[in-house]
Amino acid sequence: MSALVHNYEPLHVVLSRGEGAWVHDTSGRRYLDLLAGYSALNFGHRHPALVAAVHTQLDRLTLTSRAFEHPLLEPFADALTRLTGTERFLPMNTGAEAVETAIKAARRWGYLVRGVPDGEATIVVAAGNFHGRTTTITSFSTDPDAHDHFGPYTPGFRVVPYDDIEAVRAAIDATTVAVLVEPVQGEAGVVVPTPGYLPALRALCDVTGTMLVLDEVQSGLGRTGTTLAAQLSDVRADLTCLGKALGGGILPVSGVVGRADVLDLLTPGTHGSTFGGNPLACAVGLAVVGLLEPGDLQERARTLGARLHDGLDELRRAGLLDAVRGVGLWAGVDVPDAWGVTGRAVCEAMAGRGVLAKETHGRTLRLAPPLTIRSEDLDHGIAILGESLESLRP
Ligand SMILES: *Cc1c(COP(=O)(O)O)cnc(C)c1O
Repeated sequence: MSALVHNYEPLHVVLSRGEGAWVHDTSGRRYLDLLAGYSALNFGHRHPALVAAVHTQLDRLTLTSRAFEHPLLEPFADALTRLTGTERFLPMNTGAEAVETAIKAARRWGYLVRGVPDGEATIVVAAGNFHGRTTTITSFSTDPDAHDHFGPYTPGFRVVPYDDIEAVRAAIDATTVAVLVEPVQGEAGVVVPTPGYLPALRALCDVTGTMLVLDEVQSGLGRTGTTLAAQLSDVRADLTCLGKALGGGILPVSGVVGRADVLDLLTPGTHGSTFGGNPLACAVGLAVVGLLEPGDLQERARTLGARLHDGLDELRRAGLLDAVRGVGLWAGVDVPDAWGVTGRAVCEAMAGRGVLAKETHGRTLRLAPPLTIRSEDLDHGIAILGESLESLRP
């Protein structure tokens, strides 16, 4: 027993080195990483351009706090808003903080612009959501592990079924300032809504004067084959939460991009963060934007994603999987229900064969390889998944 709090149940691999899609453990064994830090490592481990940007900045200046200016913050904001087709950027550190920021911005807009009576704003959210771990965010989690015994809960959230536009319509009233959803529910098992859902949400928000807030902390920055998952449906959110890959797998970097008239309501003193937008974070964030600007990584996510989904469909047809979901280089798969085998058992069998993945819950596994993975490595990973499932078939 160590002094560490046991709030995670990691696979028993002790990693000491990583490069690209590969990691080594302390005994020198090599593993292919098909989790990629839950999409924080979209560019693989220690991408040379990202490491170089951080090294350079480390030798100059690491932290100013927002009390003073530094030369990288405004260029980072300009580059990220250009990349995402948005107007403003408010920097934070973790994904949960980005979501908290969007909630605060939407409420403030509701009170100051929409004229909702102070303290009465509501936000419509979806069942199966994962938006982080703060007390407010877990107040509207439908996962008992994340939610229970952490009350009293923050009021003002209405939970409706995911991918059900009529339920959102019924939940919106004069107090509703925002609809907050993931364009693809990652933690829930890579659940992709029906194609009309996001456009219908956009239209409903327009008609009712409600903010559309998309949490793209996991789906954003290339994972789905587009810079933002919302682009797959030609939808533009009012506010978009980014995180995970924004820090290039090196540092926690997050924030909200979106409409100027909404984010500009967060004036000096009303919101902030000691570390948000620090020089190291901006150095890596700028380099991340630089990697995404040409569009070839998004293209890679599309072509390798098709390859991944073809491979997984083959496993499904062979009776090794019940369901395959996903988009781009991102998949959620369910081990056949009748087997009584957990996703965890499959991940352990895979790790024994040198491939790392992680169950989301129950019999569901998530696969999110680095976008930089070589196609032969991807094929290898899929083959090992098949072999591992075969070894557990009752
Ligand atoms: C991971 C995640 C978060 C929370 O990010 P943290 O950096 O862990 O706070 C929020 N939303 C989504 C969709 C996520 O996948």
